[in-house]
Amino acid sequence: MLKPFEKSSGFFMVFLHMLQIKNLSFGYTKTDVLSHLDFTVGIGENLAIIGESGSGKSTLLKLIYGEYDLEKGEIFWKNTKILGPKFNLVVGYDFMKYVSQEFDLMPYTSVEDNIGKHLSRFYPEEKEKRTKALIKVVELEAFAKTKVKNLSGGQKQRVAIARALAKEPEILLLDEPFSHIDNFKKQSLRRSVFNYLKQQQITCIVASHDKNDVLGFADEMIALHNKRIIAKGTPSHLYHNPQNPLIAAFFGEFSVINDKIYYAHQLKIVEHSEFKATVKQLYFNGRTWLIEAKFKDQMIFIEHSNSLENKIQVCFDIIK
Ligand code: ADP
Ligand code: MG
Repeated sequence: MLKPFEKSSGFFMVFLHMLQIKNLSFGYTKTDVLSHLDFTVGIGENLAIIGESGSGKSTLLKLIYGEYDLEKGEIFWKNTKILGPKFNLVVGYDFMKYVSQEFDLMPYTSVEDNIGKHLSRFYPEEKEKRTKALIKVVELEAFAKTKVKNLSGGQKQRVAIARALAKEPEILLLDEPFSHIDNFKKQSLRRSVFNYLKQQQITCIVASHDKNDVLGFADEMIALHNKRIIAKGTPSHLYHNPQNPLIAAFFGEFSVINDKIYYAHQLKIVEHSEFKATVKQLYFNGRTWLIEAKFKDQMIFIEHSNSLENKIQVCFDIIK
């Protein structure tokens, strides 16, 4: 039951394996979308599921939620076997909440009433306190009384997250939770939501294709590709050992040289080197520039401190 693993900080964390996915395969038609998945998630653990669009992230979350019947494999939360609609009259369980990509809120009702909708009106003080606390977690204090129909997509997404947390689920499934939220707000909102989940020891599974949802927050990550889990590990481990171009692409621009993957910052422009390339494009990246250059018959990416002249030849080296 116990599995220790090393966090990037060096501390050893121990999670009890409460969600168990056992040999799960699933297809909407005869063709499987997911095939032979096995993994576990612990109490309070943050697991990220990454993969390209169409790789089955949403399908996996819906299966965990019990939205479809399983023909192959099993899913357990603690000792409860998750059942689909054939065996479960009302889809879902009290201990689990799911915020889908299409959050369905009550448009003509205020933010606070949407969030408190499922809280008992027999405890009005508790209901008000809890609703207020969650409005703070999703940073919507200024909109508590606003009708949901007058909110932006990103604000609605935040209401959906707060509503899912209202009844204190043990496990929360988030499908691309910050995809509609603008960059001004994203980072602080991520910290607020994920810190809250850790504090409350709520297990969460986050489907995402944005590395910023994962780095710094996920304890473990799983990459889906061609129906299968192609990599699993801590963000730090997968970042430092990208075994596959797909994993590297998730973290940033990279090049493949002599069959090895190098991020842009691992290639450095130098005065002399056996590696020569021609500058093709320059992109301002803030602290650095990203240089796209032609090396032999392929394009490579080099991080550089300044801009360069286009079309010039440069030498570069691999740094470790
Ligand atoms: P992701 O969330 O990673 O983008 P999805 O789980 O939404 O991927 O989709 C995985 C695959 O399943 C895709 O090929 C998609 O077209 C298909 N799919 C998703 N939902 C349905 C559905 N309700 N009926 C049939 N096929 C579906
Ligand atoms: Mg999806």
